[in-house]
Amino acid sequence: MIPSVQMTQELSERINSVTPSATLEMAAKARKLRAAGKDIIGLSLGEPDFNTPDYIKDAAIQAVNDDYNSYTPVDGYVDLKNAIIIKFKRDNGLTYEHSQLVVSTGAKQALYNVAQVVLNKGDEVLLPCPYWVSYSDIVKLADGIPVEIPTSLESDFKMTPEQLEAAITPNTKMLWYSSPCNPSGSIYSEKELRALADVLQKHPKIIVVSDEIYEHINYGVTEHASMAAFEDMYDRTVTVNGVAKAFAMTGWRIGYIGAPTYIARACNKLQGQVTSGANCIAQRAVITALTESPSKVQYMVDEFKARRKIILGLLNAIPGFKCNEPEGAFYVYPDITAHFGKTYNGVTIHNASDFAMYLLEYANVATVTGDAFGNGNCIRISYAASEKEIREAISRIQAALN
Ligand SMILES: *Cc1c(COP(=O)(O)O)cnc(C)c1O
Repeated sequence: MIPSVQMTQELSERINSVTPSATLEMAAKARKLRAAGKDIIGLSLGEPDFNTPDYIKDAAIQAVNDDYNSYTPVDGYVDLKNAIIIKFKRDNGLTYEHSQLVVSTGAKQALYNVAQVVLNKGDEVLLPCPYWVSYSDIVKLADGIPVEIPTSLESDFKMTPEQLEAAITPNTKMLWYSSPCNPSGSIYSEKELRALADVLQKHPKIIVVSDEIYEHINYGVTEHASMAAFEDMYDRTVTVNGVAKAFAMTGWRIGYIGAPTYIARACNKLQGQVTSGANCIAQRAVITALTESPSKVQYMVDEFKARRKIILGLLNAIPGFKCNEPEGAFYVYPDITAHFGKTYNGVTIHNASDFAMYLLEYANVATVTGDAFGNGNCIRISYAASEKEIREAISRIQAALN
């Protein structure tokens, strides 16, 4: 049932100000068309098409049989925190104490917690565009103001230190970014992060949220770097990570932060009143995921890398698709502005949303409009799909634009 205007008015201004997740909405539309008998290829969701590896599943089965079924500590099992400490040290050179860690129901809840405990009404949060679809709404739900910093294909969708400096006002409270970036696949090198940190040195009150959930899905051009690894940034950086993407565990819902103690304690307090500790079985499985070597999931990265090559080759052969070469994650983010103002099959394309809708209806391929990520020149195409699906999808797109 579609809610009436009147029903919506009965709801809070808070929820009415939230935009539904564009990626989930596109998935729902695709499902509906499929139910109506259309053969839709879904390249809209940010989800690996692999199963969770057996060694992690076995740890979960063991946990069930070992009777892990009680409430968990709000901020996570001590054993899991030990595993997170090992992981941060091994992969990022970061040293955290137990009091600095909070395990949550996905990285999404971790981000939500941080916004809720740090932001006051009117605080500005800098979001280099394109940014992950939920950032701006998570900020708005905490009464913060998202401030978009535009970037483009020419700068590999990365913000420059000058842009950062120019966007800072007396109300700036935080900077949020993901590297590797969802949706662009761009990675900030250590040197680039250092240059951004140099700007932040002049503004000691700004807190940084570094979302590193794609850390292990890295194609080897730019090495992963963490903002918190700079000594002068450690005390004001929240490092967000999780197992959803690299370990193909989206449905298990485990994410975590390493943060200054006062922020971690505040997140713990909030979570204790909202959801309590994350799922017991999932936490036990994640201990194994984080303790074992990340090289155990490299086969998925290798596969994504091969598909990246295929999809870039196919897309670049279609007129009006300009792609950067993503260095991580599993998305391409082509600039499609060359199609604006054109008419195909009687449909005029005015913007990226029109373009994504056109591809859904005339190519039977689901993608996501770039507007959802704060950049209306592009669409996001996920290549977490089989090679066969990728080839078929791109050839349908090409046909629909002929
Ligand atoms: C998928 C994703 C998340 C959310 O991760 P969950 O652990 O599934 O909640 C957070 N940030 C980015 C950039 C993502 O792509």
